[in-house]
Amino acid sequence: MGSQEVTDWQGKHVTVAGLGVSGIPAAKVLHGLGAVVTVVNDGDDERSRAQAAELAALGITVRLGDGATLPEGTELIVTAPGWKPDKPLFAAAAAADVPVWGDVELAWRLRGPDAAPWLAVTGTNGKTTTVQMLASILKAAGLRTAAVGNIGVSLLDAVLGEERYDVLAVELSSYQLHWAPSLRAHSAAVLNLAPDHLDWHGSMEAYAADKGRIYEGNRVACVYNLADKATEDLVREADVEEGCRAVGFTLGTPGPSQLGVVEGILVDRAFVENRQKNAQELAEVSDVNPPAPHNVANALAAAALARAFGVPAAAVRDGLRAFTPDAHRIAHVADVDGVAYVDDSKATNTHAAEASLAAYESIVWIAGGLAKGATFDELVAKSAKRLRGVVLIGADRALIREALVRHAPEVPVVDLDRTDTGAMLAAVREARGLAREGDTVLLAPACASMDMFANYNKRGDAFAEAVRELGASA
Ligand code: ADP
Repeated sequence: MGSQEVTDWQGKHVTVAGLGVSGIPAAKVLHGLGAVVTVVNDGDDERSRAQAAELAALGITVRLGDGATLPEGTELIVTAPGWKPDKPLFAAAAAADVPVWGDVELAWRLRGPDAAPWLAVTGTNGKTTTVQMLASILKAAGLRTAAVGNIGVSLLDAVLGEERYDVLAVELSSYQLHWAPSLRAHSAAVLNLAPDHLDWHGSMEAYAADKGRIYEGNRVACVYNLADKATEDLVREADVEEGCRAVGFTLGTPGPSQLGVVEGILVDRAFVENRQKNAQELAEVSDVNPPAPHNVANALAAAALARAFGVPAAAVRDGLRAFTPDAHRIAHVADVDGVAYVDDSKATNTHAAEASLAAYESIVWIAGGLAKGATFDELVAKSAKRLRGVVLIGADRALIREALVRHAPEVPVVDLDRTDTGAMLAAVREARGLAREGDTVLLAPACASMDMFANYNKRGDAFAEAVRELGASA
């Protein structure tokens, strides 16, 4: 069951590792195909017992509280993408020569013979936005498509469901790529690479190598970021199909085989006749929502993948115009007394916050939360000149404060010694006190939210609520 295709699942002993968003549907699908399925799960709580009962009723065996032991007779493991490769279960699988597939590998193997090709996107930040922009562009070209992966439709549903697609816009995480050895996309993009999830991958090299798998076997284009050399290196190392091209995107003027920006216009010098001389206008920067530099980069990556699939220039423009970003991604909440309030609660790591801060000239920055082992020196040093002031919230705010002392000692800082949910209203009030007309108050925490909020959505909602209260009392 290694590299050869599996077409007959009847009686195959498959172990599904992890009850959860990917494990439960995988177990059901495999069971439906006639496999003998055993689900193993570390946890044994009330929720997993209820899920186990549901699967058991179908005839699926579930072992709760033991995710380490390889069930006797296992011929294949299908794992939840989040399971760390150093788990004992995988050591046992390797010793017994049992292959391990993730959810993406399973979907890839189960897709039908005339399945839609995949345009795939990964990167540390911007994946969801780019995949949604791509789907919007493909739709504008009249193609039947969906944004799938970590978002929207699940991959298994997309490849096995009733709906017929011409092409899929697929978001892939580094975990999913780790467990997807035979995936071969039509074309793929790595948007950027910054340290993230290193505890899972073990090192930056291993993380980059897993991201780089997205380019393996690409047929038409490997799309990379000219501003991020590591992405270009991954293209160079990839083993692609004969004739597949490397296509770069840049916020500057594009050279041949690149997409870029010239005087406020997104232009294509890759998918045009005679690219040494010609360029094709695609859209205006103002067609990108919001037109922040990092988001223009996302739009260029989406455009490159769509163009690789043969989409006309006008559909790129129409698709970008029709796109609206998900909530809490540089969302303009309100203007109060000439100050703009912007919610980028989704900026949960320093790389995202850096992009966000680069989009504004004069900022009162609301930051802090759970740092997840990050350091803030580079972020603060690069952003210092844009900071009117800073309001710190959350558990790990001292780390940011120390970086501010080192790299931006002249910037006023209000350190709110609070982690209660109501602290957001106090933070917004403090920010207002620091801001001058024309400034932007930007929630771009560079940290996870779970010390104060259930998730980044709730954090953004609390910010918007506080801004509305401020507006009402202005
Ligand atoms: P992902 O799916 O990779 O988490 P999102 O599209 O949801 O990405 O964006 C997450 C956050 O990352 C945004 O709120 C924004 O702060 C930041 N971001 C988006 N695109 C980029 C980019 N190209 N480079 C750096 N940061 C980005």
